[in-house]
Amino acid sequence: MGDHPEVASFAELEIGVGAAAAGPASDEEVRQAGARLAAEAARFASFGWMRGTSGNLSIVLARDPLRLAVTASGRDKGELTADDVVLVDGAGAAVAGTATGAGKPSAEAGLHARVARLTGAGAVVHVHTVAAVAMARRRPGGIVFRDLEMLKGLGLPAEGAAARLPVITNSQDMTVLGDRLETARDPRMPAVIVAGHGLYVWGADLLQARHHAEVVQWLLELEIEAGRG
Ligand SMILES: [Zn+2]
Repeated sequence: MGDHPEVASFAELEIGVGAAAAGPASDEEVRQAGARLAAEAARFASFGWMRGTSGNLSIVLARDPLRLAVTASGRDKGELTADDVVLVDGAGAAVAGTATGAGKPSAEAGLHARVARLTGAGAVVHVHTVAAVAMARRRPGGIVFRDLEMLKGLGLPAEGAAARLPVITNSQDMTVLGDRLETARDPRMPAVIVAGHGLYVWGADLLQARHHAEVVQWLLELEIEAGRG
């Protein structure tokens, strides 16, 4: 029924091809991505998920070599414009010569690139939600969900099988954090919590990444509500 989450399977092997342009990204492509990221950031900021300039969003624009459009660091995520975007390479470093005028990428751009390479995702959402940090504190070994209709929104079965959202320890070193994410992640679960920090969620494109983020956040809020009983 239309009121239920769509079963949106995140088939990693299928999205590597066709999810992004093949060549390097043009200035116009970067700006268009910036406009989409600004709209998405405003949405998440309105939910209270990107307070105090926290969090960042990215879209993969090219695969070989890897290029991502990432929201610029230090800006209010509720007030981004199409120019508040940086083109970064596979290591998360700003690509020289791109006329986006947007300043610096966050250090976290390196983890966005790592997730895109590792999972084949076309978009990555990183938000600092209270629910993610609170639940990681309660369940540092990961959070298990089962028998919830909303799991279908992550492409997972609504009944029977358990789904585990991994929790990894925070680090300021994006290589260390990326190694932890790579070790801990479950290929069926398009999300990881970083303890004391926030949530990384991904999808085949920005819309699917948004839906995955909303579903994961819903699941976390439910656990918190249920834990109060
Ligand atoms: Zn962060």
